[in-house]
Amino acid sequence: MNPPANDNPTFDDLGIAPDIILGLSDRGYRRPLEVQQAAMKPILEGQNVSLRSKTGSGKTAAFGIPLIQNLDPDEKYPQLLVLAPTRELAGQIAEDLTGIGKHRKIRVAAVYGGASIQAQIKEVKQGAHVVVGTPGRLLDLVRRKVIKPASFQAVVLDEADEMLSMGFFEDVSALMDGCTNCRQLVILSASLETDVAALIDRYASDVVRIDLSADVLSVEGIHNVYYVIGDDLPMHHYLLHVLAVEQPKSAIVFVNTRKDASLVATVMAREGLQAEMISGELPQSERERVMHAIRSGELRFLVATDVAARGIDISGLTHVINHSLPEDPAVFLHRVGRTGRVDTQGTSISLITGRRVHTLGLLERRFGIKFEERRFPPAKEMEKDRTDSKLEELIQAADVAICDGYLVQSRAILVHDQAEQIVAYLLRCHADRVHDEQRAASNRPREKPQRDRPERKRRPRPVRKNRR
Ligand code: AMP
Repeated sequence: MNPPANDNPTFDDLGIAPDIILGLSDRGYRRPLEVQQAAMKPILEGQNVSLRSKTGSGKTAAFGIPLIQNLDPDEKYPQLLVLAPTRELAGQIAEDLTGIGKHRKIRVAAVYGGASIQAQIKEVKQGAHVVVGTPGRLLDLVRRKVIKPASFQAVVLDEADEMLSMGFFEDVSALMDGCTNCRQLVILSASLETDVAALIDRYASDVVRIDLSADVLSVEGIHNVYYVIGDDLPMHHYLLHVLAVEQPKSAIVFVNTRKDASLVATVMAREGLQAEMISGELPQSERERVMHAIRSGELRFLVATDVAARGIDISGLTHVINHSLPEDPAVFLHRVGRTGRVDTQGTSISLITGRRVHTLGLLERRFGIKFEERRFPPAKEMEKDRTDSKLEELIQAADVAICDGYLVQSRAILVHDQAEQIVAYLLRCHADRVHDEQRAASNRPREKPQRDRPERKRRPRPVRKNRR
């Protein structure tokens, strides 16, 4: 008779070796998560696996643990290849795998564009067992004969659908064609349609398909809220109002274009909010600095496009804010998956225009998401709240500032015909200075993190209305 199934197995029960378990407990992983319980055994047995599961559900360790256990640490050449669509994701996977294989002395090299190729070549040549990278840089290293694809025994394609939709089909195929000794393929993808299916057909047979209904699960533990914006005020007034009312502890603000990313980050920083952006345009070193700042809690708001933020794990974010809804409803799930990750609760807030209300209906029907509507006060009230709180902030700052030398000029301005215009100009200069201070603060050494500006005392309250 078979032993009864264990509902709550340990890593040991799943056949994970003690030195690997040690690496996991260093990272605070006590028990395997659902996706790990499902995927570990077939991957450990060397089977081809395709895996679909919720963003942030522990997929990296689900493939990382068994594949690392199957490596031979004495063979000091690349045995495992992991392909990822973005630099950030590749860096994060490499970090996770390094931690998992630490006590087995497994070396992991991360290779991606935008960073020194020489340093990466050195890392590979120093006896890396695992290479994690983006397709373009990997092909470059293959052409330079630094990496020999025939040395890989197993290949992982992470975020395969995203990778192919970004135009990497040819590159991925070229790499896979070279992996003539590859015995195992693991594909992680939100969908298994068209290109991904073609890739599986071409490179793997007898695939074990594990489907943990990625879409429906991904909104669990997340409270979804939306606000309908009007056209009485500029868009950023609505965003700033939401931030003032909701007071997120830490958030990622999603925008649809790079232009919006820099615009929104600037508007927020001018308002004295700690905000920075990442987009594909940013140099790699800058992206890494910003990612470190948000992960370590030094930075409160990250403004990002989907491509720049795809797959990144930023644990502990309390809010995801959709400055605008994505064109593709499935992307909504990837966005809100940044919060409410393993065992945490999160809130997603979407700002939508009246014409996009139907998109929410679509999300409700397709993914079972329930939205709560919160409403903006009338535009005039919002403007008054904003002016009042600005004024209060200035009064507080002026209270402690020593400006006696300017009092004579100040009196002259107040009685001048163009007093309003001059004060408006001074306020703009003040906002620019606040922005500059924010930028300078973010470039300061990390041990001196920027503190938030004083909380405003008066906060506008939202008018709440439950849709159901
Ligand atoms: P991923 O889906 O790979 O991005 O993982 C999401 C988060 O889950 C990461 O912060 C991991 O460090 C964390 N994680 C993965 N496996 C476990 C585990 N067994 N126990 C606790 N946390 C985990």
